[in-house]
Order: sequence, then structure tokens, then C-alpha cells
Amino acid sequence: KELDRALIWHPFTQMKEYVAEDAPIIAAGEGCYLIDIYGRRYLDGVSSLWVTVHGHRVAAIDLAIQEQLGRIAHSTLLGLGNIPSILLAEKLVSLAPLGLKKVFYSDNGSTGVEIALKIAFQYWRNTGQPQKKRFLSFYNAYHGDTLGAVGAGGIELFHHIYGPLVVSSLKVPSAYCYRCPYGDAGTEDCRRDCFGAVARTIEAHAPELAAVIIEPLIQGAAGMLTWPPGYLRHLREICDAYDVLLIADEVATGFGRTGKLFACEHEGVSPDLMVVAKGITGGYLPLSATLTTERIYEAFYADYAELKTFFHGHTYTGNPLACAAALANLRLFKEVKLIEKLQPKIARLQELLVGFWDLPHVGDIRQAGFMVGVELVKDKETKEPFPLARRTGRRVILKAREKGVIIRPLGDVVVLMPPLAISEEELSHLCEVVAVSIREAAG
Ligand code: PMP
Repeated sequence: KELDRALIWHPFTQMKEYVAEDAPIIAAGEGCYLIDIYGRRYLDGVSSLWVTVHGHRVAAIDLAIQEQLGRIAHSTLLGLGNIPSILLAEKLVSLAPLGLKKVFYSDNGSTGVEIALKIAFQYWRNTGQPQKKRFLSFYNAYHGDTLGAVGAGGIELFHHIYGPLVVSSLKVPSAYCYRCPYGDAGTEDCRRDCFGAVARTIEAHAPELAAVIIEPLIQGAAGMLTWPPGYLRHLREICDAYDVLLIADEVATGFGRTGKLFACEHEGVSPDLMVVAKGITGGYLPLSATLTTERIYEAFYADYAELKTFFHGHTYTGNPLACAAALANLRLFKEVKLIEKLQPKIARLQELLVGFWDLPHVGDIRQAGFMVGVELVKDKETKEPFPLARRTGRRVILKAREKGVIIRPLGDVVVLMPPLAISEEELSHLCEVVAVSIREAAG
């Protein structure tokens, strides 16, 4: 523990608080539980940052990694191929929305997004429209921490500080209905304003726009902000009408999180580029994939003299171990009928959350499948937030931790993202502990 405090700079963490709060050191995992160095067990309410689909220590994935280790741990995709990366690409293409036929691998969600942005930019350059080089994204968006991804991001707290470093995208308000940017959520004007804003911006800027990037169905890191039904389809139609590419960032929503394998499926939308990561290996190894269409790939498939190459390649891109883990993870989806079995659990979670409305300081509850945000406010009537410095969300998660449950706050939004394989009993326990913790810490 002392060495942890002395040596490690923990991401997204105020280090003074981390030290003061006696953060546990995790030594092992089992199913939906984390176990610390003292043997204390914690229910993993955020799937180890939204990745452990089937929980920890899944026999089939363990075995697949061991078997792959017996062959080879790593070789490069720069100029060579490897078997697990080929089999995984075949699987991903068969599962992805229609038309996504090519797979570019990297190591995490941020680099997957970075690749999508660079491909979109260069696609227009390669096809003779170099003026199409701007991006449109949304307020409250989170696409990762690398500079390109930060430029597309729209969370004031995380992104503003890096403004001088990044090329910022054009921004449109997102659908934060609880604090509607147009002040008319739930009225007849609401769809017109919300859908109209993005349409007008695309129309006005189409000649210079390379792509729009969106987290489909729900903005995760913003505090679980769900888009109104039809929004993604509407966006697809406008992008088609004005010749702008659509990038779906499914890093958080992919692999069953929202109740379907990919969130785009809820609206029958096929993006031009789709980024997946997080759940792809079931939380075992870092891997991401940026999928795209033949049309986009063809714009790069030229003689070297034309310099239409995509000059991008990470050292560990298409790592065989990670791809083998991903293949085993996806096989398990089918074998255990994970998505089918998830449906009643989503409904149960929704029922459990109904009781949260009566808790003190719960202003809003937002859910898309197994992605939940509970927004805490000082005043339920006026929606006045707690002062930032009170760290109310943080207090709640510390209370939950004392009771053996790990969750994370996004500001004063308490987030639940349990493993998809969680049992109904574990789900009830999770909600019970979170409710008590909100009562104790916010009330
Ligand atoms: N996009 C979205 C929608 C995300 O939620 C995240 C991670 N929370 C990222 C991109 C970045 O992924 P990573 O942390 O793996 O770089």
C-alpha cells in the first residue's frame, strides 16, 4: 500500500484524497466480486470501468489466453498477419451493423476514436475534398483522453483545461433533458429544437465537415444522458443528405451494455465508422477496433506513389493474446445466451430504480440497459446542484465502499454499470447498498 501511494499516479484521481481515503488494493477477482489484499470482498458495481462483461476469472477466457500463450503472445500487424486477429475481424464484421467490413485494431477506446477521426479526415483528402476537415460533436461528449479525442470531447470539467492544445470540433447541445439546453424538455417544441439544432449546424457547415461523432443512445461519461428516440436515425439521415460521415463511438455502449450487442441496433443505424473497445475482451486485455466500410477503405487502397496510405499503427495493434481473449468472450455471449438473459435483468434493474425517486436529493434517474446514472441535487424542486466542493457523489461511493460495493461517481451522478452476468440477487444487493449510501451521504 505504501508503495502504491509513493509511486503510482492514479488516473482521474485527486491523489491527496486517494491517500486520505485509504483506497483498497485489489489482489484478486471472482465472478462479480473484487478481493483486496486483506481478503475483503467488494461487489464490482462498475464492471472494473465498464469492461468485465461476464465477471472476473471466466474459465473459457482464461483457457483461450493460456492456449494462445502456448503459441505466441505477440507479433506485429505492420506487414504481417496473425490468426486470432483474422478470426476476430471475421467475427466482428459478422456482428457489426451492416456495411462495416474492415477492421483497424488498436489498444484502447481513445486510440480507436483517434483512428476514426484520422480516417475520416484523410478519406476526404484522398477523394479530392481536402476542405472537409472539421468535426462536429456534442456538448457533454466523452471520447477519450488523447488530444484528438479531447478535441471532440465536450465535458467542461475534463476538457476545458486542454483547450489550448487541441483542435476543437464544432459543438451542438446534447440531450440533457433534465437540464434541457432549450428549456422545453417534454413539450411539443422539444424534438423540434433538439433535432433542429444538429440539422441546422450540419447544413450550415457541410462543405467543411468531415464527420459527426456521437456516443449512440447514451452519453456515458457525461453522467448517462440518453438521447431521445429517433435522434441517431435523424442524424444518419442528415449526414447522408449533406455528405458527412457518421462516427459511432460504441466504446462504452458496445457488447451488450444497452441491451443489444451494439447501441446503433436500437435505431437500425449503420455508421460509416464504429469504434469498440472496453467490453471487447470481457475486461481481460486492452484492445479496440475501428470498423469501417468498403467505400472508405477503397479510398486508401492505392499505389504507394499516390501517398494515400493511412499512416497510423500502434506497436501492439491486433495483439494475438487480446484477440484470442476477445474471440472467447464473444463465443461466450452466444453460448450462455447473454443478451437474451440480460433482458429480464434490465427490467428488474428498472424496477429497483423506481424506489430511488423517494430518496432525498435524487433529482433524476437515467437508464439505458445496464448503464445507469442517478443525479444528486441539493434541491429536488429547483434542481439546484450541490456545491462542487462538497463532493457529494464521491461521498456516496465511499459509503458504498464501506459496505462492500464499488461504484464510481461522475461528478454528482452516481453510476451503476454492473457486469452483464450479474445475478438478480447481486443486482438487488447493489441497488440496496447504493440507496442506503445515498441516504447517508447526500441527506
Ligand atoms: N469513448 C467513450 C464513449 C468512452 O466511454 C471511453 C472511456 N470511458 C472512451 C472513448 C475512451 O476509452 P479508453 O479509456 O479505453 O481510452
